[in-house]
Amino acid sequence: MTYADRMQRVRSRMSDLDVDALLLSVGPDLPYLTGYEAMPLERLTMLVLPRDGDTRLVVPRLEAPRVDPKPDLFEVVTWEETDDPVAIVARFLSDSARRVGIGDHTWARFVLDLQARLPQCTFSRASAVVGPVRMVKDAEEIDALKRAARAVDAIAVEMRGVRFSGRTELDVHRELVDRMIGAGHERSNFAIVAAGPNAASPHHEPSPTRTITGGEIVLCDFGGTMDGYCSDITRMFHVGEPAKEIADVYSVLVAAQEAGVRAATAGTRCEEVDAASRRVIADAGFGAYFVHRVGHGIGTEAHEDPYMVAGNTLALVPGHAFSVEPGIYFPGRFGMRLEDIVVATEAGPTRLNLAPRDIAIVA
Ligand code: ZN
Ligand code: ZN
Ligand code: ZN
Repeated sequence: MTYADRMQRVRSRMSDLDVDALLLSVGPDLPYLTGYEAMPLERLTMLVLPRDGDTRLVVPRLEAPRVDPKPDLFEVVTWEETDDPVAIVARFLSDSARRVGIGDHTWARFVLDLQARLPQCTFSRASAVVGPVRMVKDAEEIDALKRAARAVDAIAVEMRGVRFSGRTELDVHRELVDRMIGAGHERSNFAIVAAGPNAASPHHEPSPTRTITGGEIVLCDFGGTMDGYCSDITRMFHVGEPAKEIADVYSVLVAAQEAGVRAATAGTRCEEVDAASRRVIADAGFGAYFVHRVGHGIGTEAHEDPYMVAGNTLALVPGHAFSVEPGIYFPGRFGMRLEDIVVATEAGPTRLNLAPRDIAIVA
């Protein structure tokens, strides 16, 4: 039912945008519409989804057993090792097809071969069609995001009782990865652990040689995929009591994050969520040290539309799910970020992450 409904919504956008067919390969659009995730192989997997007419999933024969068939929605067409899959895809496009939307993650080798085979067609990004549909999460998707959020919340709480000092960043990183798998995630997508001055680099790579010491701040930003949907949380830890300067800057960060979350009501433009957080940090005199957008959409991808960034005039609607994660980074000294996943609802912005947001004092 869900898949049929999604395909219906996508087809109606194809009509609106005058797109004759979608060609979807690796990436999140194919599983969103069919439940099947293409292997990132040199062998082509491609859904041929015409605006009108039958839908086909073209897959290498050896991958066919992985497909959960949905005959009401698409026919599975397998190709043999000696077949030309690009020719098969081209054959399933009607002669009148001119405007083709191709999945954004499709390997260039297949895009180039398809363009050579279909000189009458113009290609555009399928994300223009599918993105706005995927962006608005239904109740089941919100539930999945909530379960993933609760799992990392529990880890953030458990980490408050864990020893940090004397361990390397990489060691703590591995613990976060293990805990995510233990909490039901099928995979970890990232687990940033950044101590002291390293926390001033927003995407610091955990080091196997950098040992966390007493008196240091530690940034932990971790997330993974659970039942197909992503988690993403940032919490700050400090070995021993933080100095007054750190505590003062952190209180600005908490206020900035709160302002961003509160601003995220339905009807508000995405850029206003960014501006709400940014204003608090700028008013405190730290504007130059907040060097990224305040948030990103989240779903089956860790980062997806809608982005909370200056210039994005899209208005939030119920079902939009995204992070609010302001940061303040002093190069060479220390940095901090605070991140929760938020859903816009009729009743206002709802945080999915509920772990305590203060700096956790650890040993
Ligand atoms: Zn990030
Ligand atoms: Zn994050
Ligand atoms: Zn994030």
